[in-house]
Amino acid sequence: MTPVKPPDNITTLMEARLSTWQYNLLRGAGQLAGELGMRVYLVGGPVRDLLLNRPSTDCDLVVEGDGLRYAEALAARLNVTCTAHERFMTAVMHLPTGGEIDVATARREIYEHPGSLPTVAPVTLGKDLWRRDFSINAMAVSLAEEDFGQLYDPCGGHGDLQAGLVRVLHDKSFLDDPTRMIRAVGFEVRFGFSLENQTENLLKEALNQKALSYISPERRRDVLLPLLAEQVAPTIITRLAELGVLAALGLGEVVTEPMASVLQQVPPAWAALEGEEEGPPQALTYLALIAHWARTDIAHLSTQIQLTGDEEQILRKAVAIIGNPPAVLSMRNPKLSELYFTLEGLSRIGATALWAVQDDPLARSHIEQFWHNLRDVAADIDGDDLVAAGAEPGPQFGAALREALRVKLDEAPSTAEQQLAAALTHLAKADRSF
Ligand code: ATP
Repeated sequence: MTPVKPPDNITTLMEARLSTWQYNLLRGAGQLAGELGMRVYLVGGPVRDLLLNRPSTDCDLVVEGDGLRYAEALAARLNVTCTAHERFMTAVMHLPTGGEIDVATARREIYEHPGSLPTVAPVTLGKDLWRRDFSINAMAVSLAEEDFGQLYDPCGGHGDLQAGLVRVLHDKSFLDDPTRMIRAVGFEVRFGFSLENQTENLLKEALNQKALSYISPERRRDVLLPLLAEQVAPTIITRLAELGVLAALGLGEVVTEPMASVLQQVPPAWAALEGEEEGPPQALTYLALIAHWARTDIAHLSTQIQLTGDEEQILRKAVAIIGNPPAVLSMRNPKLSELYFTLEGLSRIGATALWAVQDDPLARSHIEQFWHNLRDVAADIDGDDLVAAGAEPGPQFGAALREALRVKLDEAPSTAEQQLAAALTHLAKADRSF
């Protein structure tokens, strides 16, 4: 492909593709820097997305000068709060719309050893761009009044965007920061790009050197889980496997065609089994599936990618049920109580993973019925009703109340009195002295 010369100035593009609000914000940000004797640039992801004509919610600014002082001034002008991270010379502003503006001092990063957190020192924009992950993320646009819209592309990012390539900027890039191996796959898949040849060789070399084992579980989690939340997560997982990154994370050697088609079922599973917004993310459904296939030890995985105790429990149960799907799922007309008591306590992760591995529509409809109609059902009586009816509180109460619930589920419509009668009969059988 003939390389296309990058445009010098992309003001027209910015006018066309940004909202008036965003555009004015950038103009104002540039003016403010001028007033403070500094220069500010839009940098990285938002520039890439502008050139790709993709929507971008990020606003990443880089400042030649004292970025923290600039961030404070910008926050004051916008009347928003600003959190500074002095060690990294960065600050983040929280907009009332829920968006964020990230401001960083143009800086270089020195890695003491592979995978360590870098120490940073201020530099010019050019040097700042060269320390970035990939050429497509190493472009900046000036926001200064005198050359607003001027594109800075020292690393050939525009050409790589045109060619659809993800390219690292130097040979030690993946060793300096092995999370870039995972990020690279994210960009490749999200944009339908390919790893540039040498970049792919370097990635494999870094894998051979076990580079991913140098990074902290927290960083592994921070880079992996957002990728598994994307629409294209199934393809990302397949590609991570193909390159050997998944294996390096302890999540299996291969994703076969049938596995890949199960992974494709996760988004429809989430749509079919809607639940509360809060709660463990969809990423965990993918983890449950791949951990099941790879027979990953969940306790080990948990330490590898810093799962919380709750997440670990959820994964453990999900893996157990998909490994041993209950027989009730293949029954034509199971009793509702059977469905309920078999799937009781199933998390959304477990339910979606189980749904995804079932290719029988009947099994899926049972899971949906449990999820939508059964899981929150409770008997119409409680322990107090049993006591009021003369029963002696004791360990049999739990089973008696489940009997009441069984009646409610299987003998609908049932009254509270009928459920109470069933519970009392159960107690009477269990304890002849009653
Ligand atoms: P996304 O659309 O996923 O947000 P992004 O490129 O904006 O993509 P961020 O994680 O927000 O991704 O990073 C912002 C910028 O910081 C990147 O564009 C890149 O220039 C730089 N960057 C991020 N992570 C790294 C890294 N691990 N190593 C070097 N540079 C990085």
